[in-house]
Amino acid sequence: MSRVYNFCSGPAALPEAVLKKAQAEMLDWHGTGVSVMEMSHRSTEFMSILASAKARLARLLNINDDYEILFAQGGASTLFSQIPANLANGYDSACYLDTGVWSTKAIKEAKKYLDVNLVGSSKDVNYITVPNLDTLPLDESAAYLHICPNETIGGVEFSGLPKTDLPIVADLSSTILSRKIDVSQYGMIYAGAQKNVGPAGVVICIIRKDLLARSGDNLPSTWSFANLAANDSMINTPPTFAIYLADLVFEWLEEQGGVDAMEAVNIQKAKALYDFIDSSDFYANPIEPAYRSRMNVPFTLADKSLESLFLEESEAAGLRTLAGHRSVGGMRASIYNAMPMEGVLALIDFMSAFEKRHG
Ligand SMILES: *Cc1c(COP(=O)(O)O)cnc(C)c1O
Repeated sequence: MSRVYNFCSGPAALPEAVLKKAQAEMLDWHGTGVSVMEMSHRSTEFMSILASAKARLARLLNINDDYEILFAQGGASTLFSQIPANLANGYDSACYLDTGVWSTKAIKEAKKYLDVNLVGSSKDVNYITVPNLDTLPLDESAAYLHICPNETIGGVEFSGLPKTDLPIVADLSSTILSRKIDVSQYGMIYAGAQKNVGPAGVVICIIRKDLLARSGDNLPSTWSFANLAANDSMINTPPTFAIYLADLVFEWLEEQGGVDAMEAVNIQKAKALYDFIDSSDFYANPIEPAYRSRMNVPFTLADKSLESLFLEESEAAGLRTLAGHRSVGGMRASIYNAMPMEGVLALIDFMSAFEKRHG
């Protein structure tokens, strides 16, 4: 068996220690004689796993009692519909900020439920920057403001928030737990697990409790945030194994020193890679430096005809899945929490050697 450095944008690399623990517990979880996959979701054992995942996440992100932690299903893409369906009940419109592909997809789904008030877009400059958050024409009577602070495909990230009394709803799928955030500034945070937390199949939602009152009775039962909260994320069978893996990742994060420690490493990883790209005429990243993502680093080769050779040789060197998203091409290195500094240094070494051979 040999493990490689996996730069996949998602489902992404998991910490090896987590995979080993899951492997060790696979056939017999804590003396029960069964795998977590084979347990009733209503058993005391699984309930303890769910409670542990919630408690660890609350500790990691300093989530206070004003918020409910929910585990939803259907991917972040389903939340694009669930959010307007739940949170815009009684409202005509919601504000949306467009910073790239995932914002655009969220907007497209929201339009089926309400009037989207587009408060800013960087589309006309090909999403290499982020609109000025201090001058967004927000409508304070809207249902909420939706943002995507890390655009996984474009590699654009922003950390500030606009000043508003609107509940801010943020898609943190590819950045949750990679940097400090102040949860109390958000109405709702959601994140598909398969980027920075665990396997696909579960979406983490952190929602301010007062917003649960907005969920109407006419919603499909499994879509209602209020119903999900009232049933502790178990209206129906939740993705038990994915929640278990998320709990193991949260445990690992606590062992690493929590979000502060991860953020420090993530800053170093991203800086090393961007510094290298900037120092070379062979590679380029188009994003305005202040908005470069720490998690997803897209880059191009000056000579596009070398791209397939780059991918072939990098794969052979144990650096997996460096192709950019099919919609943008080029390369992309996703360097989430589970990617160690050594993986980034191995990538830089490879890029440097490739440039010497072909530059
Ligand atoms: C991957 C991703 C999604 C979509 O997640 P699915 O689980 O495939 O629905 C949504 N938003 C962002 C920011 C993502 O990175």
